[in-house]
Amino acid sequence: DQLSKTFSISSKRQNGTIQAVHDVSFSLFKGETLGIVGESGSGKSTIAKMILQLLHPTSGSIYYQGKEISTLSKRERKQMKANVQAVFQDPYASLNPRMKAKEIVTEPLTIHQGLANKDRAERALGLLEEVGLGSQHLNRYPHEFSGGQRQRLSIARAIALKPDVIVCDEAVSALDVSTQAQIVNLLKELQKNHGLSYLFIAHGLPVVNHISDRVAIMKSGELIEIGQTEQIFHEP
Ligand code: ADP
Ligand code: ADP
Repeated sequence: DQLSKTFSISSKRQNGTIQAVHDVSFSLFKGETLGIVGESGSGKSTIAKMILQLLHPTSGSIYYQGKEISTLSKRERKQMKANVQAVFQDPYASLNPRMKAKEIVTEPLTIHQGLANKDRAERALGLLEEVGLGSQHLNRYPHEFSGGQRQRLSIARAIALKPDVIVCDEAVSALDVSTQAQIVNLLKELQKNHGLSYLFIAHGLPVVNHISDRVAIMKSGELIEIGQTEQIFHEP
């Protein structure tokens, strides 16, 4: 509700504050995909990071299942973190290069549910198969995957804990158009099977048009429009 985020900066060239997000308010409904579009620097990632609890809002509140998240107990906060997962643009930045695929995708299960080492391969295989990868990938390292496959790996990790929400921050933006379509189709299939909600941030309009039920437009830190996808994309 009325989320704002200000960054303080001080450097040789610049001093002061940047209002990255200003009085933004929206809801993400169960099972929907809400696309967020807007030019670079309009505040999309800052919103994603606040929802993922990687940044604190300067003012305003975020509600999860009716509860303001700053009032959650430590245990509830951990639960929310498990239920709200993320897929970022550059899997290289978020996948540990020294971990094998089977370790990467089961890491959340190890951390949150104490999955035993001996059970990792089996659970990993199930997750890899859900995203269209197979047993031949279990022992590979991130650099041995193509860009699209690496994004599948990130998605497998994101669904490991059976979350409610996945924040996709430019999750397909670095991929070529046909790989984008494949990943979007995978996301849609997973949504159908698991009842996921997506916050889908992207600067590419066709892909947002294709996946989103609703679309929000950000400009200079403000949410200037939100509505059904057809309405947003077919207005003059
Ligand atoms: P987008 O995701 O739409 O490209 P961002 O949310 O990343 O936009 O950025 C919004 C604004 O906040 C930009 O002006 C950006 O330069 C600024 N910004 C983002 N992160 C930081 C930060 N950690 N420190 C200072 N300014 C930041
Ligand atoms: P993205 O929007 O691609 O996820 P970031 O959120 O990391 O990327 O950064 C968005 C913008 O914020 C960039 O333009 C970057 O230059 C700016 N930015 C990020 N961190 C800082 C920072 N510590 N100080 C100033 N600007 C920053």
